[in-house]
Amino acid sequence: MTPDPTLERYSRQMRFPGVGLEGQKLLRNSRVTLCGCGALGTVLASSLIRAGVGFLRLIDRDFIETHNLQRQILFDEADVTANLPKAEAAARKLRLVNSQVTIEPVVTDVDRTNILDLVKDVDLILDGTDNFEIRYLINDAALMLGKPWVYGGCIGSHGQAITIVPGQTPCLRCVIEAAPAPGEAATCETAGVLGPTVNIIASYQAAEALKILTGRLDAINRDLIFIDVWENVHKKFSIAKLKDRNTCICCAQRKFEWLEGAHGSQTTSLCGRNAVQVSHRAAVKLDFEAMAKQLRALGAVDFNRFMLKFNVAEYEFTVFPDGRAIIKGTSDVDKARTLYAKYIGH
Ligand SMILES: [Zn+2]
Repeated sequence: MTPDPTLERYSRQMRFPGVGLEGQKLLRNSRVTLCGCGALGTVLASSLIRAGVGFLRLIDRDFIETHNLQRQILFDEADVTANLPKAEAAARKLRLVNSQVTIEPVVTDVDRTNILDLVKDVDLILDGTDNFEIRYLINDAALMLGKPWVYGGCIGSHGQAITIVPGQTPCLRCVIEAAPAPGEAATCETAGVLGPTVNIIASYQAAEALKILTGRLDAINRDLIFIDVWENVHKKFSIAKLKDRNTCICCAQRKFEWLEGAHGSQTTSLCGRNAVQVSHRAAVKLDFEAMAKQLRALGAVDFNRFMLKFNVAEYEFTVFPDGRAIIKGTSDVDKARTLYAKYIGH
């Protein structure tokens, strides 16, 4: 018997000495923002909700497609049919798992204009994204606000993870100074990705989250962890010394280039999708009913309160209420911008 009946469900976790009753109480009072609710993100969200964090903000810009089901563990075929955004579908599933946790789904693109608002009221930021632009933004925001975050990335059969605690460990830019240029690195389109790779890397990230949220910074991983499930490789690279160089533009010089907009774009070719995302620079709120009326001249239009879908020739448009659109059928960002201007507006 535990003194607090609401904690009974966590009895096996509390029996583990690293957590205990005190750790569990800290978890219950903890707040987390998870950026990305795809492969890594669904495993992370599931782990944290089951472990009993107090609050989880789940951010994802995307909707669910059948080819996600191979590795994105919170989704099913009904979610694809229902055209649900990932954040919303994940929140619905997770509330059934643990009604004690407050879950806030946010369907948006994390960018430099909104990231500080999305992370300023939490204790920890988790990376479940698949792109370096957002990771460097997270790194900037985390360093600026002094919040820990956990990086994870997967491709093919391998992946890596780093735990970043401002002031104590090197930051992402200490370790990976610049993102690979477009076309330079393998993508999930060229190399694919295995479900087990994702599960392992996200589980490492989740364990780090538990340590941080229960106040056990002494136990965090201070190396870069690399795992290849196909080649049977488990490696740790020592990175602690990189912090001592004291030359990092972000954590040593405290210049937040990604937050300040020196980098980044509004139009992104989406990894592995033959699709481009076009974001609207200014905040807008689209009227889907009015749009559908006009677009029906071109063919069928489907919409619910989360998204509007239509096709023009070989292109499939998915439009979100904030004006953002994913245009499938091209990976050419200029072409996508033209299509956006032509069919959605400016
Ligand atoms: Zn740094």
